[in-house]
Amino acid sequence: MGKQKSSAQSDPAGGESKVVPIPSAARELSMQQLVHRMLEFLGEDPEREGLVRTPARVESSLRWLTRGYGESVDELVRGAVFEEEHESMVLVRDIEIYSMCEHHMLPFFGKAHVAYLPNGRIIGLSKIPRIVDVYARRLQVQERLTDQVADALMRVLRPHGVGVVIEAYHLCMMMRGVEKQNSKTVTSALRGNFLDGTTRDEFLRLAHGGNWLE
Ligand SMILES: [Zn+2]
Repeated sequence: MGKQKSSAQSDPAGGESKVVPIPSAARELSMQQLVHRMLEFLGEDPEREGLVRTPARVESSLRWLTRGYGESVDELVRGAVFEEEHESMVLVRDIEIYSMCEHHMLPFFGKAHVAYLPNGRIIGLSKIPRIVDVYARRLQVQERLTDQVADALMRVLRPHGVGVVIEAYHLCMMMRGVEKQNSKTVTSALRGNFLDGTTRDEFLRLAHGGNWLE
C-alpha cells in the first residue's frame, strides 16, 4: 500500500483536522489506499499481518457486492421474452436477496416475491431472480429496490400488472439499534391490475404463503 501522494494540506480554517480531503485529490487514491487509510482512522495498524491484504479483499468484495452497477436488465432479458397466451398469474417466491443499505453501507438481506400477469409475453423464470439481483447488487434502500424491480418488469414485459414484495433484515438496524433485533422490513410495489382488489389479494395471499406477515 505505501504512502499517499496527495492530501496533507493545512486547514485554512485552523480546525483540528490534519488532513483536508479535497475531492480531486481523493479521486487519485485507489480504493485500496482509501481502505488502508480508513483502517488507520479506526485506530488499527494496517501493516499488521491480519490486515495486510484487507484493503485488496475489501475492494474485490465491494466490487462484487455492487456489480449491479455494471449490469443492465435489457441485456439480461434479451432473447428470454417469449410470445405466449398464458393469462394466469406467474409468481416466483422466496428469491434470496442480499443488498447493501446506502446510508450505512451495511447489508440488508431477505426474500423477494415477484409476480406478474402476462399480456401475450412471458419471461424465462430464471431471469426474474437475476433482474432482482441487478438492482440488489448496488447501494440501495429497500423501498427503491422494490419499485425498480416492479418498473423493470412493467417495461420489458408490458404485462397486465406486476406485484413485488420484499421482506428484509437490515444489519444497520440489528447491529446498531436497540431492541430491533427481530424487526423485519416489508415493502411492496403494485403496478397495473395488481392495484385491483382481487388480483392484489390473490398475490399477497400467495406471496405470504400464510407463514409470514402474521
Ligand atoms: Zn442503513
